[in-house]
Amino acid sequence: MRDGEPRRLGDLAERGYLIGLDCRRCGRNRLLSPWRMFPQQSPATPWRWLRFRCESCASADVLVRIGTAAQLAERPQPLYEREDLLAILTEAIHTSLIYGGESLPITRDRARKVADTVLRRLMAAGISVSEPKP
Ligand SMILES: [Zn+2]
Repeated sequence: MRDGEPRRLGDLAERGYLIGLDCRRCGRNRLLSPWRMFPQQSPATPWRWLRFRCESCASADVLVRIGTAAQLAERPQPLYEREDLLAILTEAIHTSLIYGGESLPITRDRARKVADTVLRRLMAAGISVSEPKP
């Protein structure tokens, strides 16, 4: 733990920090004000004790970070937003798959949609290639 890092929910609220939640399974991202936690949580609660579930996919594999809105804007990149991976997969799918007979290859747009689906399913299966940037 870094020196001076706030430990309790009340410390986060005093500093104007937010809680950043990033689902590692579906990529959903949310910012939460510590003030909204106080009906259920004490200001003395260490924020690292908190556990969250994703509102979209119900996964408990949620990265919890703290910081200002600007600091939290730098978030982990979901696999399906990685242009490098999308380009590799799109190219492979576009050149390898034939749809509806030999003379009708799938379009590049369609190949990109398939690539997007593949990356989302890899994330849902727990494949994590993305890292939060420091
Ligand atoms: Zn999720």
